[in-house]
Amino acid sequence: MVDHRLSEEHEALRESVQTFARKEVAPVIGDYYEREEFPYPLVQVMGRMGLFGLPIPEEHGGMGGDYFALCLALEELARVDSSVAITLEAGVSLGVMPIYRFGSDEQRRTWLPRLAAGEILGAFGLTEPGGGSDAGSTRTTAVLDGDEWVINGSKAFITNSGTDLTGLVTVTAVTGQKPNGGKEISTIIVPAGTPGFTVAKKYSKVGWNASDTHALSFDDCRVPAANLLGERGRGYAQFLATLTEGRVAIAALGVGLAQGCVDECLRYLGEREAFGRKIGEYQAMQFKVADMELRAHTARLAYYDAASRMLRGEPYKKEAAIAKLVSSNAAMDNARDATQIFGGYGFMNETPVGRFYRDAKILEIGEGTSEVQRMLIARELGLPT
Ligand SMILES: Cc1cc2nc3c(=O)[nH]c(=O)nc-3n(C[C@H](O)[C@H](O)[C@H](O)COP(=O)(O)OP(=O)(O)OC[C@H]3O[C@@H](n4cnc5c(N)ncnc54)[C@H](O)[C@@H]3O)c2cc1C
Repeated sequence: MVDHRLSEEHEALRESVQTFARKEVAPVIGDYYEREEFPYPLVQVMGRMGLFGLPIPEEHGGMGGDYFALCLALEELARVDSSVAITLEAGVSLGVMPIYRFGSDEQRRTWLPRLAAGEILGAFGLTEPGGGSDAGSTRTTAVLDGDEWVINGSKAFITNSGTDLTGLVTVTAVTGQKPNGGKEISTIIVPAGTPGFTVAKKYSKVGWNASDTHALSFDDCRVPAANLLGERGRGYAQFLATLTEGRVAIAALGVGLAQGCVDECLRYLGEREAFGRKIGEYQAMQFKVADMELRAHTARLAYYDAASRMLRGEPYKKEAAIAKLVSSNAAMDNARDATQIFGGYGFMNETPVGRFYRDAKILEIGEGTSEVQRMLIARELGLPT
């Protein structure tokens, strides 16, 4: 049976996040963005709303929902602003989920209640200055010395890693050599403030300017051996699973941005006049917005499909990559068209579409570039890659 109607719970969540985004985020986010400032008060409200614990069972302090609920929340947030959306996306899919999925009982008890409540934020450090797409090329090392891991290396572009709320960063590191000579990669939890763990000054970015991104370095950074996440040597498999799931969330975020462009344009087409008529009366403008709606709609179907396969426990790698690719294309194309519809005002940072334009590009890069998505789709089709 094909049914894309939302359940009552999902619809109620979607509506409450939409209200929050429109009433509380929209009026203030432009100023945070211009100041390149992390919006602590908004993130605290999101924490109180339970958004950081959406897919986490209640016994761990979460809301007991599912991953699709997270996607719906991301879509509604990104319809208004992508910085707050990526803060939630990375906070949950990269911060909370690896600990929930792979953590020991002790690690779950220690971290999940505060992460799920948004009292602290978690980050995931995979990308290194030498490369992100080839994630297996990790150079950061962790050596077991008695009952401690000693970590050395650096990470690049890590979201949520340097806020006042950041409680931990889960990092990938080479912990040895596999029998076949390859790198043994593991993931290790590094609590914020651990000596030897340095957070560099935040990047100056093209977009997502009210989100938090830093380079990190580890210089003989010691953490307890018990901070190993899951089994030693399973790091590669863990981050592949984390990224596959995360792609569906990023796809939802892209759909939100694409739909936000439609929202803004519909309003503007009815307000702006040129040559004595509302610009919405010109077919050239109508066709543009029709194409924008088409892209947002088809991208939404793609992520709904990937999410429903995930929730049914079916393979969904190919569908997740397709959803991410379709949705990032939709976001880029819609941001470009929306900026065109707004004319000169579209080029001003003060308008939401100016922000959407700057925020769209990263969707073709983060959590696997568009080229990597195509590689994944080709591999799933059985082609050698
Ligand atoms: C704002 C922001 C936030 C981020 N947050 C995080 C985070 O929280 N955690 C984290 O770990 N990472 C994070 N990243 C990193 C992000 O995931 C990487 O930037 C991304 O995976 C690409 O890696 P790279 O930048 O090293 O590009 P590279 O891997 O160097 O790629 C450069 C170009 O080569 C192409 N390419 C590479 N290999 C191939 C191939 N085999 N075939 C064809 N083309 C190829 C790529 O598609 C790309 O176009 C973030 C990045 C940004 C900008």
